[in-house]
Amino acid sequence: MKKLDRRDFLKTSSLAGIGLLGANNTWSLTTLEPIHDTPGADYPYRGWEEVYRREYEHDQVGFSAHCVNCHGNCAFKILAKDGIVIREEQLAQYPQIAPDIPDTNPRGCQKGAINSQAMYEPDRIRYPMKRVGERGEGKWQRISWDQATGEIADKIIDLYEQFGPGCLATHTGTGTVSNGKLAAGMRFAAFLGGIQEDALTDVGDGQAGQYLAFGDNMQNATSDAWFDADYLLLSFLNVNATRIPDAHYVWEARYNGARVVTTSPDYNPTAIHADRWLNVLPGADPFLYMAMVHTILEENLVDRDFVREQTDLVLLVRDDNGKLLRASDLQEGGAEDVFYFWDEKSGAAVTAPGSMGSEVKNLALGNFKPALEGSFSVGKIAVQPAFVHMRAEAMKFSPEATREKSGIHPDIVRDEARRFASANKAVVASGFASAKMLNGIYTQWAQCLMCALTGHVGERGGYWSPFSLWGFESTFFMTLIQPGKMPRLECGGLGEFVHGQKIIEARAHYDNDKLKQRAGFDVEEMQHMIEESIHSGQMPVYEGLKGAILQADNKFTRNKGPHYRERMLEHFSELFVNVNVRMDSTAIYADYVLPAAGHYEGWDMRTTPLHRFGNLFTAPVKPIGEAKPEWELYVLLTKKIQERAIARGISSYQDGPFTRDLHTIHDDYTMGGKLMTAKEQVRFLVENNPQFQGQSFDEAVDKGFVTMWESPSPESAKVTPDKPVKAWRAQVEDKTPYPTLSGRITFYCDHDWYQQLGSSVPTARDNAGPAASKYPYTFYTPHTRWGIHSTWRANKYMMRLQRGEPNVYISAAMAAAKGIEDGGQVRVFNGLGEFYAQAKVVPTVRDNQVMMEHAWEPYQMRDRKGLNTVVATLIQPLELVGNWGHLKFDFYKWNPNQLSNESGVDIERADQAQEA
Ligand code: SF4
Repeated sequence: MKKLDRRDFLKTSSLAGIGLLGANNTWSLTTLEPIHDTPGADYPYRGWEEVYRREYEHDQVGFSAHCVNCHGNCAFKILAKDGIVIREEQLAQYPQIAPDIPDTNPRGCQKGAINSQAMYEPDRIRYPMKRVGERGEGKWQRISWDQATGEIADKIIDLYEQFGPGCLATHTGTGTVSNGKLAAGMRFAAFLGGIQEDALTDVGDGQAGQYLAFGDNMQNATSDAWFDADYLLLSFLNVNATRIPDAHYVWEARYNGARVVTTSPDYNPTAIHADRWLNVLPGADPFLYMAMVHTILEENLVDRDFVREQTDLVLLVRDDNGKLLRASDLQEGGAEDVFYFWDEKSGAAVTAPGSMGSEVKNLALGNFKPALEGSFSVGKIAVQPAFVHMRAEAMKFSPEATREKSGIHPDIVRDEARRFASANKAVVASGFASAKMLNGIYTQWAQCLMCALTGHVGERGGYWSPFSLWGFESTFFMTLIQPGKMPRLECGGLGEFVHGQKIIEARAHYDNDKLKQRAGFDVEEMQHMIEESIHSGQMPVYEGLKGAILQADNKFTRNKGPHYRERMLEHFSELFVNVNVRMDSTAIYADYVLPAAGHYEGWDMRTTPLHRFGNLFTAPVKPIGEAKPEWELYVLLTKKIQERAIARGISSYQDGPFTRDLHTIHDDYTMGGKLMTAKEQVRFLVENNPQFQGQSFDEAVDKGFVTMWESPSPESAKVTPDKPVKAWRAQVEDKTPYPTLSGRITFYCDHDWYQQLGSSVPTARDNAGPAASKYPYTFYTPHTRWGIHSTWRANKYMMRLQRGEPNVYISAAMAAAKGIEDGGQVRVFNGLGEFYAQAKVVPTVRDNQVMMEHAWEPYQMRDRKGLNTVVATLIQPLELVGNWGHLKFDFYKWNPNQLSNESGVDIERADQAQEA
C-alpha cells in the first residue's frame, strides 16, 4: 500500500476543497466534469463508499410535501425500496418568476427531512381500533374497516334519530392542512351537517386587527415579496426558527440593503441577525406601535394623498355622539352605510364613494379634496374628520410616555418610525403569535395605521401575515361545490371557550379590578358580551353536542386550562371518533381511531399562501398497515352510512335551509361514484379549480407541482406571472374599494362596544399578563423550532436537539433566586394547576419570564399535565362584534381567537414542590 506523504496529503486536501472525491475520479464543483489522474484515484480502499451508496438504492420514486400546519409546502422527492421510504430529498425545481428575484428553491426544514423515519415510529396508527378500556386508558382492540365504519355509521344514525342533525362535531383540525385531506373532512361535514369550527381562530391565528382595518385578513403576500423591501419589520415572526423555507428572502433583502428590525421579548434566532432588535416588554407591543404612529404624525411623515383616497380617516364623525355621519342622519330613509367627507375645495360635505351602500364602486376622488382636519357643520350637525380623533388618541402615546410600558428608548422609537416612513417599500411581516395576545388586535390595528399613514400598501409594502385564502382555495372549492350543502360553521376560539367552559378558569385566575384597569373590561363584562354576541346571532356557537368525529385536531394538547379535556369528553359522551396519522394526546381518548395515510402514502395536493406552486403528493409508497387517505376513508364511511340509512328506512332530515340525505350521502360525496380514490380527488382539484387554469394533471404529476401564474385569487393582488403576490394592488392602483363598511382602510369603528371600550380608533391596551393575576411571572409559549406544532414533537431526532424532554427557558437570575439548576426539574404552577419540566437556564429571556416552546404533548409530561394546564384564557370583546359592516362572522377571517400568552405563573424546584 502506497502511503500518502504530507505533500500528497495537502495536495489531496486542497483538491477536496474545490471538488468531490469519487472512487476513480475527482468531480470539479465548478465544471461538473470529472478530473482524471488525481491523487484521489490512487486512494487505496474505496469499499466503504458502497455502504453509503446503498443507502440510496431504491425501486420507487415519487413526489410529496408535508401536509402539516407550517405553510412551507416544500416539494420533496421521495425514494422508496420494497415499499419502505428510505429517504427524502428537496426537489428544488421551482422556476424563477423574475430575473431579479431569487427563486424559492430549495425549500425544506429539519422536521420534514426526518419524516421518512418518523413515519415508522411507534406512534403511527396502523389499523382501525376500538377502545376496550376506559377512555384514555390505552386499551384497544384491532377491528376491521367494515366493523369500524358499520358501528360508526349506525351510531351517527342513532344520534340523528334521537337528537337530530347538529349534535355532531365533524371537525378537521390543523394537523393536516393539505387541500386533499382538509377538503375530504370538510366535504364530509358539509353533507352530514356537522359542526366545523374555524380552525384558524381555534389556534389563535386570526389576524383581527388586520381584518378590522382591511376587511380581509386572507389577502397577503408571497414570501418573495419581502425581497425587494427596503424596510422589514418582523413582528412576532421568528423566521429563522419557524419559517425556515422562506427566511432566505429576509436575509437576501438585507444583503440587498434592506433594514431588518425584529421585535420579541426574547433574544431569538432571528433577532441575532437583525439590524435592530426591539426587545419590547412582554405584551407591551401596542404601546410601541402607537408611539411610532405618534412620531409619524408629530413629524408630519404622513402621505396625505394616500390617506385621503384610501382610508376612512376622511369620514366625518358627529361631535355629539361620536358616530360616523350617515345618510340616515341627513335624510328620512337614508342609508346606514353611506358616509361623508368634507371637500376642502367646495366647502361642503360630499358623499364618500366606495362604501357598502354607495353606488360608486371606485375610490378615485376626482376633483374632491377631503379634509383631514377641521371642524364643520353639516346642517345642524357638528362634525370632524375621523383623522382628528385618530390623531388625538395617538398624541397620548408619545415615545416618552410609552417608554416605561414598552421598555424601548424614545430615541430608538423615533429613529425606527422615521426609517419606516421614509422607506420606499416598508413591510410589517406579522407572525401568528400576535393574534394569540389579548391585545393583539390593538397591535395589528396600530401597525396597519403605520402602513396606511405612510402609504405602505400594495406595491409599496404593507401589513402582511403569512396567510392567504389562495393557499386554501382548493379546499373550499371542493367543500362547497355542492349547492345547498354546508357544514355548521362555528367560531373557533369562542366555540372552544364556550364548550370548554373556560370562563371558570378565567374567573379563578384574574383579579377583576386589575383586569379592567389593564384591558378595559373585566371577566363579567366579557362574559356578558359573549352571551349577547351568541344569543343575538352575531357569532355562531352550537349547543347540544353529543359526539365528535375529529380529523387531525389535537385539541387536548392545544386547549387551555386544567379541565378542558374532561369537559369535552362529556360533550362527546355518545361517540368520539379520531381520524389521525398518529396517536396524539387527543386520539388517546377516542372510542374509535381510524388510521389516515401519511404524507408519503396517499395522493394529495397542497397550496400555500407563501409561494405560487401547488405540490402534488404522488403516493410513492402504500399506506402503512391498513391506513387510508382521508378521502378514501370518508368514501368508505359514507358508503356504510348510506347502506345503513337505506336498510333502516331513513331518508332526509330537514336541517334549517338544508336537507341532510343520509340515504344518498355516499353518492353525493363521491359525485355519483366518479371520485372514489384520493388520486381521482386530486385530479378533479387540479383540473377544475380555476386557480390552476386548466393545467394538465399528467404534466403536474410528471414534475411534481402545478403553478398559479395568473390566478383569480386573491383578487386584490392582481396575480401576474412576473411579480411576487402583494395584496391590495387592485385597491391602490385601480381604486377598487376595500371589503370594508366604508370601502376604505378602516381606522374608525363607531360600534357601541368599540365606543364603550374606548377603542373607536387605534389605541394601546395592556395584555392581561401576570399583573392581572396573583402570580409574578409571564408565561410565554412561542412556536417551537423542533416540531410543526405537536407533529414531530416527540420525534427522537428532534428530541436530541432540545434536551430530550419538555423544558422551560428561564434566566440565570431567576434560576439563582429560586435555587434552580440548569437541567434540574421544576414545577411551574399557579392556582389553576401545575406541570413539571426541565429547567433550561439561558441568557436570552427576561428575569420575569418563563418561556416554553409550545405544543409539547401532555403524554410527554408527568401525569399527562400539559403546559396549558396553567393557562387561563380570555376572549377579546372587540372580536365578538358581528353586526357592523364587515365586522360579521366570517369563517377563517373574523371571529374571536383563542388566546395563549396571558397567564401569570410561579416556578420552583420540583424537589421542593408543594403538590397543588
Ligand atoms: Fe417544508 Fe413544512 Fe415539510 Fe418543513 S414540514 S419541509 S416547512 S413542508
